[in-house]
Amino acid sequence: MTPEIKRKISDALKRKGIHPTARYDITGKTRSDEWKRKIKSTLLKKAVFISCHQCSGVFRICKARLKTAKYCSRACHSKAMEKTLREKQITKNISRENRRARELGAEGSHTTTEWETLKMGYGYMCLCCKRCEPEISLTEDHIIPLVKGGNNYISNIQPLCGDCNTRKHTKIIDYRIEMGVLET
Ligand SMILES: [Zn+2]
Ligand SMILES: [Zn+2]
Repeated sequence: MTPEIKRKISDALKRKGIHPTARYDITGKTRSDEWKRKIKSTLLKKAVFISCHQCSGVFRICKARLKTAKYCSRACHSKAMEKTLREKQITKNISRENRRARELGAEGSHTTTEWETLKMGYGYMCLCCKRCEPEISLTEDHIIPLVKGGNNYISNIQPLCGDCNTRKHTKIIDYRIEMGVLET
């Protein structure tokens, strides 16, 4: 049965009132409360409670959706999508940095987790202008620039916002020392 035919049939049934949520039955009489209760309990029997992958709130779904349902609402769904998109972007940025380092013949590489841990350690703050995410978005700055022979290990990386990173360019400034975070 094609979706088109399915839709036509369901439309026809709805017009005749043969639909669980219709207020009137086939003869035009209002559905009795007992009938509604019966339908409700059948639907409930088919329902299961699961917790939302985003807000961990508990919500009810039809058993048939058990394998696919993840989020309690549209809002939670789009929040989760945004998060994955952001994570994907970060992973992409890291692999781009690693590739650039390889091309420049620099030693070392680092992972997304190392970068995330580093950012978290500084409270998601740009070490130069002290603004925080999400007001700015942090980029990886090589303290000793790759072009000046710096390596690509996480120990040579500090989080700076785009503006500060551009301004620093190929100068060697360790904002970690300036901040007193790191002992010289
Ligand atoms: Zn939710
Ligand atoms: Zn900054």
